[in-house]
Amino acid sequence: MHPNVPLNALDTLWFQVAGTICNIACTHCFISCSPKNHSHEMMSLADVEERLAEARELGVREYYFTGGEPFMNRDMLAILEATLKQGPATVLTNGMLLRAEVCRKLRQLFDESEYSLDIRVSLDGFDAESHDAIRGEGVWDRVMTGLRNLAAAGLNPVITVTTAAEGVASAEGRTRFLELIRGFGFERPRLKVLPLFHIGAEETRTRAYEDWERLTAESLTSKEASVLQCSSCRMVTSKGVFVCPILIEEPEARMGDTLGETLREFPLKYGACHTCWVDGVTCTT
Ligand code: SF4
Ligand code: SF4
Repeated sequence: MHPNVPLNALDTLWFQVAGTICNIACTHCFISCSPKNHSHEMMSLADVEERLAEARELGVREYYFTGGEPFMNRDMLAILEATLKQGPATVLTNGMLLRAEVCRKLRQLFDESEYSLDIRVSLDGFDAESHDAIRGEGVWDRVMTGLRNLAAAGLNPVITVTTAAEGVASAEGRTRFLELIRGFGFERPRLKVLPLFHIGAEETRTRAYEDWERLTAESLTSKEASVLQCSSCRMVTSKGVFVCPILIEEPEARMGDTLGETLREFPLKYGACHTCWVDGVTCTT
């Protein structure tokens, strides 16, 4: 028997705003996003606004946007403008489409809102060689340009690194990343390290979950499960509302069409749930 996670409060709402469509195809992507993966489609401004209205009624406190690559969504800036009228927003991006004019517009949205706007940029190495081995040739250079554009606009991003980046889990590795970030002129570098989920492309790159990597009711009570992010979040996609940002390719993790239909407990029966518990993962900043 697997433990259930309760929904204590819907504090955090995620949007799979670019579906599974990305301009690159990282070898560790846990949802195997790529230019050709249309498993989940892009969401329109109208799609997002419908759930934002529901979220406002339910007292959601913060909003996250991911994909795929969110800035491939033509409505992305309008979506942020709508979101920033009701709460803080964070965008998770690979950094390749952060052109100077996009960064200036992001800064304008930030300045005009009473809520915060955070941009999270992924790096997978200290240099082009290690980063591009996972993300593809030439990606590093474009991300560096994107980071410079953010810096020029006065936006300090959160740099997200997975443990696929060699050495990042050590204190020395973190220091090296922080130095790299400071090099762009960000005086207060912000770094978030995330573990890898052995699903999607990562399942092929390294390994799949073993059968023993599952949570049981003996190893975890529902009360203890209350610290997991799924006790306070949901993920909106073009195919409905899922329990969390990780399990969007699990049909049984789709909990309903609306947020109101998902306000209930969920069984933690997936290998990824084991990673969340053992590594204390939260996808929020
Ligand atoms: S990890 Fe991010 S940037 Fe890489 S393919 Fe997946 S969604 Fe795209
Ligand atoms: S993968 Fe993590 S966040 Fe998602 S349901 Fe399992 S424990 Fe919760």
